[in-house]
Amino acid sequence: MKIEKQIMAYCPYCKRHTLHNVRPVPTGKIRPNSFRNRKHERTASGYVGSVEPRLIVKKQGKKQRVLLECTVCKKSVIRVFPKRTKKKIEIKK
Ligand SMILES: [Zn+2]
Repeated sequence: MKIEKQIMAYCPYCKRHTLHNVRPVPTGKIRPNSFRNRKHERTASGYVGSVEPRLIVKKQGKKQRVLLECTVCKKSVIRVFPKRTKKKIEIKK
């Protein structure tokens, strides 16, 4: 799926259609010291309870997302595309 670098879209802050810059959504960092990761390491080490099974992931594709930044008020909104796709979104240059 390809998308233009600048598109007209509705801005909820300006309450009208304005020109938006399209950018990829920044991904979050993996937190090695989060509660869930610590618990997984505890159970996997063999001292507590039963070993957690590894997640079985069915690959159905993901809903693709882009970050739209308003050129008027500089605020940004995430747009989620309604269908699942395996191909990633390409931003045209
Ligand atoms: Zn705006």
